[in-house]
Amino acid sequence: MAAIRETAQLAKLINDAKTEAEVNAAVSELNSKLASIQRECISLVELVGTYQEMNTSLKAKIAEFENFKVQAVDYSLNKVDSGTLVYSKNIVLSDGETAVNACPHCFHQNKISILQLGVTTTAMSGFHVHYCPECKSDFKMNKLPPKKPTQVAGYGSRFSGGGR
Ligand SMILES: [Zn+2]
Repeated sequence: MAAIRETAQLAKLINDAKTEAEVNAAVSELNSKLASIQRECISLVELVGTYQEMNTSLKAKIAEFENFKVQAVDYSLNKVDSGTLVYSKNIVLSDGETAVNACPHCFHQNKISILQLGVTTTAMSGFHVHYCPECKSDFKMNKLPPKKPTQVAGYGSRFSGGGR
């Protein structure tokens, strides 16, 4: 910002000038300094804009990470029957407690993506196959149950008989 100080000195020079030539020279110099100040101002405004964008993006990243930390607190690394390592936590549903498994790849990128039963492949080499809806990876999970006749609907349901 030396240009601003120099501009003030030039203004004083114009005041003190004795001849028109001296005034003209000082005015010309003053104009050039003002143009350079204007250029500096423009780049400062651009810089502020860049910092504002970075600030907004960093704030969003922090919020995303804080959100992940809150969600991730109940998950722990767990080995399923196939040897695959996934992050799991137990949740209580209406029909009892069940494990929810999260994709380890996504977990390490601060995302919790709950594994779902495969759509195209549901089983492989005697194991259930689950997939990650986020990164589309497939995971061999627990052993398939031994083959048995199809269960009759109603097992474990409210129609399975009163008595209690
Ligand atoms: Zn994933």
